[in-house]
Amino acid sequence: MVIKKVRTRYAPSPTGFMHVGNLRTALYEYLIAKSNGGDFVLRIEDTDRERYVEGAVDVIYDTLKTAGIIHDEGPDVGGEFGPYVQSERREMYMPYAQRLIDEGKAYRCFCSKERLEELSQSSEFGGYDRHCRDLSEDEINEKLKEGIPYVIRQKMPLSGKTTFSDAVFGEITVDNSELQDQILIKADGYPTYNFANVIDDHTMGITHVVRGSEYLSSTPKYNLLYEAFGWEIPTYVHLPLIMGKNEDGSVSKLSKRHGSTGFEDLIKDGYLPEAIINYIALLGWCPKDNQEIFSMKQLEENFFIEGISKSPAVFDYDKLLWFNEQYIKAMSAEEFTERAMPYYKEVFGDRDVDYSKFAGILQQRLEKFTDIPEKIKFFAELPEYEKDIFINKKSKTNLENAPVNLQEAYERLKALPNWTFDAIHDCLINMAVEKELKNGTVMWPVRIAAAGQKVTPGGAIEILDILGREESLKRLEKGLEKLRS
Ligand code: GLU
Repeated sequence: MVIKKVRTRYAPSPTGFMHVGNLRTALYEYLIAKSNGGDFVLRIEDTDRERYVEGAVDVIYDTLKTAGIIHDEGPDVGGEFGPYVQSERREMYMPYAQRLIDEGKAYRCFCSKERLEELSQSSEFGGYDRHCRDLSEDEINEKLKEGIPYVIRQKMPLSGKTTFSDAVFGEITVDNSELQDQILIKADGYPTYNFANVIDDHTMGITHVVRGSEYLSSTPKYNLLYEAFGWEIPTYVHLPLIMGKNEDGSVSKLSKRHGSTGFEDLIKDGYLPEAIINYIALLGWCPKDNQEIFSMKQLEENFFIEGISKSPAVFDYDKLLWFNEQYIKAMSAEEFTERAMPYYKEVFGDRDVDYSKFAGILQQRLEKFTDIPEKIKFFAELPEYEKDIFINKKSKTNLENAPVNLQEAYERLKALPNWTFDAIHDCLINMAVEKELKNGTVMWPVRIAAAGQKVTPGGAIEILDILGREESLKRLEKGLEKLRS
């Protein structure tokens, strides 16, 4: 037996938006190919002009690139099975339809729109009534001569059953009598999606067809086409639905009301591509052990089809946030600073700031980069605040001792020869020791005066260090003034 090289394809229609469901399909196709040493192909299915959106193909390229899902063949990189854009393959399909006609497996249907409409309005409508299925040779030639437009339909078996096996959903059987004589070629000469996808997958040597479970019911029709041509049926891998959690605890198909559902929107919301990919990989697939954090490389090594579940997966934004946090924590400080830079700039503009120190107070406390501006804007400008935030029970600070301790701390800090983290640290800790105070009793008023708010990333020492001597002392003076007023 010849073992065929595994080939999968991602076949998006350019609709301008990459839903997480589509992204998961692309990811699983990629992983099935890579975990088997195979090839991953990108095919653009743009024949439905009504759904076509300008610029949408770029969204597909950008998303795949950002997500790290790299195709081996496709419109932009080429390959021996091209063209990879369906509209450029248009001329390929008719000969295959003609072959089925010649073999008696398909027929021309000349029924007018009006007739089909009438049919669909009749009470016993059970689909197309196979009116043209048994036209005589003469009748056909007559109609062709008259130039009556026609579609090409597939002759479905009238009895029996069609069974196929799906790698995830198992064996599925339908009665052939339920299957319509589906249209293969439309009146304009172009193929239907149902026909084109079979021809494309076969001629591109696709071994595993991975798609959403909404395609399960069409698969028997595709299989009857493979059989009609005598082609090998690919392995089908249908993926479970992705659901969203409703407020009342129930679940329904993931949609906008649950949160962002597009890759680009999730990125805008502050999720990192690698966290999204890691999370989506587990949305319907279960690894052999309980490992949760996977790099793309680890996914490529560990993915296996049997781990895909058929039960619907629930998209949990809290869990995604958890993944995001883990990826942020695991970065080097340099990488953190680099990726945080756009958010720093949002706060500080062109001001000359030593950003390297922010990682120390932010990185271990951050869920999303988009939270950065809100967390650090007090560094750029001291907020307005009320003096009662100097009161804190746990630190034993009140409006009587706060001005005294703040004044003392201010004098000591002002006298420091060097404004470094260690120097500030020793200065404030020594003061607490010498004055027999809790550390908090010293730190609280200093931090409040320096930040102008109760909740801050980092403590008094880190904040003073980042603010620098001049700005720190200015803010402490302001705090003292406020306390005395
Ligand atoms: N173009 C189809 C879609 O975007 C692809 C379905 C398939 O994978 O065959 O839904």
